[in-house]
Amino acid sequence: MKIVLSLIILITGMSLPPAFGQDRFLAKDPPRSLLENLKRGNARFISGQLIHPHTDAERRKLAAEHNPDLYTFATILSCTDPRVPVELIFDLGVMDACVIRTPGNSCGKREIDAIDYSTKHYSTPLIIIMGHNECELIKAALNEEAASDLPASIIDFVKPVRKLVDRVREENPHLRGKALADRCAEEHVMEAIRKLFNGSPYILEKAQQSKILVVGAVYDIKSGRVDWINHRRVWNLMRSIIAEKEKSK
Ligand SMILES: [Zn+2]
Repeated sequence: MKIVLSLIILITGMSLPPAFGQDRFLAKDPPRSLLENLKRGNARFISGQLIHPHTDAERRKLAAEHNPDLYTFATILSCTDPRVPVELIFDLGVMDACVIRTPGNSCGKREIDAIDYSTKHYSTPLIIIMGHNECELIKAALNEEAASDLPASIIDFVKPVRKLVDRVREENPHLRGKALADRCAEEHVMEAIRKLFNGSPYILEKAQQSKILVVGAVYDIKSGRVDWINHRRVWNLMRSIIAEKEKSK
């Protein structure tokens, strides 16, 4: 196979992805270094010093002529809320990230399938599940009155969040107002990560092998800052899901 490929390359002069035939995750920077890249982009967004990388004609030419999986390094699930402009928040450009947005960054079967697909198809070593403060969905789950203004189609997204809110209230009876809403936003992200690990054996395996890093985050719509959920929480969640799966074999 390798000889045939070498001949094709010699004859046609075509170029192949650097990691062709190998594990394509390994051809990219390590997930933690890619995460630092996103953190630097968010710092530029907060300070109003965006550099808008990868948005010029040369990049668009690359996009037209090459497979994006050579360049795309992150898959991000976020909320549809227009106050959460994902690419700007991280100062990203063309082909940098696959962004999936749903009301309240809800993570059901279709979203899990979309994340699983983009992780495999574009070999993204980094998966970010990002909630945000002041989320209408969390507000509606916390407050029946807020939910009464929402269309029926959105209520389907609210229902599962109500269960989560009830659990957060029960576990944290001292929390009220903003503190309670902020905790719910964080726990909603953790719930999405739990569903992702449970629903995608591929992502669970790659995360266990540290080829993929799954990270939880909550965005502050006023400051523009992304707060990162302690990775130990995500790691412990992953370990407990693996242990559950082992037990049920
Ligand atoms: Zn939202």
